[in-house]
Amino acid sequence: MATSSHRNEIWDADGKILGNAPQWAKYRKQLDEDFQEPYRGGTDKLSQQMAKAVRMIDELRPTGPDDKAFLGDSSALTYSYPDVKDVKIPQKPSSLDDVISECVKMFNGMPDVSSPLTMSNVWPQPNNASIIASMLPLIFAPNIIEGEYAWNVHKAELESGGMLANLFGWEPTKAGAIYTYGGSGCWLYGLKYALTRVLPDSRDKGVRTDGKVLVSGQSHYCRQNATDWTGLGMDNVVVIPTDPDSNTMDLAALEATLKDLTSKGIPVIEVVCTMGTTDANAFDPVADVRRLLDQYPNPAPYGKALLYCDAVCGWSWQTFNFYDFDNNPLGFSPDALRMMKKNAEKMNGIHLADAVGIDFHKFGFSPYISSCFLYKDAAEFENIMRRGSYAYLQEVTPYNPMYYSLEVSRSAAGSMAGYATLKYLGIEGLQAVLGGILEVKLYMDSLVEKQPEMAICNGEDSGFTTLFRVYPKGTDGREQYRLENNDRAYRADLLANNRLQAAIGEKMFNWFLQGKKINGKPTPHISYSTGFSTAAWNADGKDPEGMVYTIKTYPMNVYNNPEVMDHVITCVLAARDEVMKSL
Ligand SMILES: *Cc1c(COP(=O)(O)O)cnc(C)c1O
Repeated sequence: MATSSHRNEIWDADGKILGNAPQWAKYRKQLDEDFQEPYRGGTDKLSQQMAKAVRMIDELRPTGPDDKAFLGDSSALTYSYPDVKDVKIPQKPSSLDDVISECVKMFNGMPDVSSPLTMSNVWPQPNNASIIASMLPLIFAPNIIEGEYAWNVHKAELESGGMLANLFGWEPTKAGAIYTYGGSGCWLYGLKYALTRVLPDSRDKGVRTDGKVLVSGQSHYCRQNATDWTGLGMDNVVVIPTDPDSNTMDLAALEATLKDLTSKGIPVIEVVCTMGTTDANAFDPVADVRRLLDQYPNPAPYGKALLYCDAVCGWSWQTFNFYDFDNNPLGFSPDALRMMKKNAEKMNGIHLADAVGIDFHKFGFSPYISSCFLYKDAAEFENIMRRGSYAYLQEVTPYNPMYYSLEVSRSAAGSMAGYATLKYLGIEGLQAVLGGILEVKLYMDSLVEKQPEMAICNGEDSGFTTLFRVYPKGTDGREQYRLENNDRAYRADLLANNRLQAAIGEKMFNWFLQGKKINGKPTPHISYSTGFSTAAWNADGKDPEGMVYTIKTYPMNVYNNPEVMDHVITCVLAARDEVMKSL
C-alpha cells in the first residue's frame, strides 16, 4: 500500500510524476503523454495524432483516375496463413507513432471503397458526417447500456428511431429502436421478439416447441444464424417459394403452409418479409402477408405470430414514398422514375410489420456497424423482453435499454452514424444518392444493350446492379441467352458459358489486383455472380448446375459516372478476348 512517504517519492506536490520515480510510474507518465488530455487548451494531442493518422491513410489513395483501384502501392497480401497468428504480445511498450503506422500499413492493398472504379457489391462509401459522428463516441465512451453512462448521447438512438418510425408510418413516440451488430443482429432481435411473444415460457424453460419461421426463397442466409443461435433450430425454417418473375413470396404457397400448420396445431413464430435484396432486388408483399397471417392465427395457447420486415437492404427506397413523382423536383429521367416508383410501391405495406431491420451501412452510406432494429410497439417489446432489475445500476434517466437489449455494454457509434446520416442527407439527399445510382446503372444497361455479344439478365428488376453475360466473338448474345435460359436442350451451352463468365470475372479481378491498364486506365473492381437466378427452364431448381452466372456491376459510389462505365465495357471485352485465347 502506498504510504504518504511513498507518495512523495513518486509524485510532486502538483501530482506530476517525478524523474526518479519507479519504472511503473515512468510508464504511466509516458502513457499520460499519449492518452487524451483531461483539460482543454493544451496541445490537443488527440486531434493532432488523429489528423496525422488520417493523412497517412490518405496517402494510400490513388494519385488520380489513371492510377489503380486499390489502396497503397501493392495489392499483395502481406502475411501467410496461419503462420501470421504465431506472434506474442511485445514485452515493452511501443511508441504511439510506431503502432499507428503499423495499423495504417494494414490498409495497403485493400480494395478502395471511395474509388469510382469500385463497383463490386453493396459496399457503400460512408458519408463524412457519419464517419465523424461515429468517431466521437470513441473518445468519451458513452455506453448505451443505460442513461448514466450515455446521458444526452442517447438522443442519437431515440431521435433516429423516431425519424425512422415516421418514415415507415408509425407513431414515433410509441415505437422503439435499438442499434445492434448488423442486419443479422436485427434478424436475431426479430426472432427473439417473436419467440418471446409466441412461446412466452421459452424465456425460462428454453425453446421446447418446434414453431416455424416462414421466409421466402430470396431471404438472407442469416436466417440460419438466428434459428441456430436461438436454439429454435435451423430445421424449423420453412422456405416459401418465390414467383420466378417477380421474386416475391408466393402467396398461395404461404397460405397453404399457414393452413397446414394451423390444422396441425403447430405455431408460426414469425413470417419474415424480405424487403430488398442485394442482387435480385426482391420484395415480399407485406400487406398480403399481414392479411393471411391475421386470417390464420396461431391456435391456443400460443401467442400471436410476429411479422418482421428484413428491410436492411431496401429500407431507404421508402424515401420515394415522399417524392413528388408528378413534378419530379430532382429531375430524374423517366426510366429512373419508373424504377423508383416500383420500389417505393413495394415498400408500401411496411407499416403493417411489427418490426423492421435497417442497415445504414448498406443503402444509408454509413460506416460498419450501424444497424437499427425498429419496433412498432415499444410498450409490448420492452415489457415482454424485460429481464429483472439490476441492483448495481441505477436508473437516473428515462431511457435504460439494458433491461431488454441483447448486448450489455453498447457503443453509440452505430446510432451516431444513423442519426448523422438522416440529418445530413435528409429525405432529399437520400433520394438524390439512390436516384443517381439508378441513373448510372441505366446508362450501364444501355451500354450492354448496344453490345451485340452481350445480354442483360436482370432487365426487368429495379435494383442497382447490372447483371449481364458476355459471349464469344461473333455470337448473337441476346439470342444465345434466350436459348440457353429457356430451353433445356441448350443446357451444355449454358454451362460452358457459365464457365466463361466465371473466367472473365476472375480475369477482371486479377487485372484489378495487378493494376493492369487498358487504354491507359486501370481495370475496375467489378464482380460476378454464380447464383443470382436459376435458368428459366430450371425454375424449380432441381438441376443444381442450371444456374445463370453473370458479370455484375454495382455502381454504388457517388463518383461512378458514364466514363467509368464505358471503360468497364472495354475491359470486360478485353478480358473475354484474353480468356478465349487460352480455351
Ligand atoms: C446484408 C443483409 C443481411 C445481413 O446483414 P449484415 O448487416 O451483413 O449482418 C440480412 N438480410 C438482407 C436482406 C441483407 O441484404
